[in-house]
Amino acid sequence: MQITEHIHALKIPFQIPVAPGKTLERFVYAYLVLGTEVCLIDSGVNNSNTLIFDYLENMGRKPEEISLMVLTHAHPDHIGSARAIKAATDCTVATHPETQAWVEDVEQQFKERPVPGFHTLVGGSTAVDRLLQDGDVIVLDPVSLEVILTPGHARGSISLYCKEEGVLFTGDAIPQTNDLPIYDDAATVIASIKRLKDIQDIKYLLASWADPHAGSAAYEVMDGGLEYLQHIHNEIRKIAAKNNVDDAMELCARMVKVLGLPEVAVNPLIAKSFVSHLQSDGAIRNLTIINGADEHQ
Ligand SMILES: [Zn+2]
Repeated sequence: MQITEHIHALKIPFQIPVAPGKTLERFVYAYLVLGTEVCLIDSGVNNSNTLIFDYLENMGRKPEEISLMVLTHAHPDHIGSARAIKAATDCTVATHPETQAWVEDVEQQFKERPVPGFHTLVGGSTAVDRLLQDGDVIVLDPVSLEVILTPGHARGSISLYCKEEGVLFTGDAIPQTNDLPIYDDAATVIASIKRLKDIQDIKYLLASWADPHAGSAAYEVMDGGLEYLQHIHNEIRKIAAKNNVDDAMELCARMVKVLGLPEVAVNPLIAKSFVSHLQSDGAIRNLTIINGADEHQ
């Protein structure tokens, strides 16, 4: 799907095997910047290379024209095809330094973050050739991408802003309302979203787990993410006020019920997100996420 003159969105459907005989239907987006050369933003899950290469060929371009692959973070649905794409194109692979280790050693990632279906979703480890820091500008004739560090969902998670076309790529930085809350730290997610909201004149917001949003909807998505975090926070505060919350899975089970999430959400990955709302001493952080209209762009 063409979004702007140079930017295209590729929707990649996939299934997560969550339990024997049980799968969760999902999709993830990868993005192409088609200029003099081709830049790929995220690589989808394992075997997405076929879909990406077919798309390029339908556009009259060649897969070997991919000269740069930027990975917003190291989660399986972003790096799944990185190894195959690197092997086919010999492109430069670029990430933030805090993402590098989990891209270069996927078994280390699995050990530290054993998500369901990991080895189905990830095609293998890939060497990182270029490290991206906050504020770096990736020059892609005739457009460019500014690197914005937006951690919280994952360490070293980056967003990219193409100012020439007003396109913001957010990866998984913004939680989707009523979707599975997955983040390392709620307070850091909030700080990252607020930073993205400060960008003026965004024309398109391109996230990994949502269809493209244009115009004012871009800012509404960011506000929606903040409101969802506030709602989660308020509900955790209520539960913790009534009970002694010392069991992460019990907190997770209660929150999944309160939020109306599917039963498969009762797992350690989601529990970690909820627990991040609690300080280590068990007290609740007062995040005061939504401060009112003055924060809106
Ligand atoms: Zn992710």
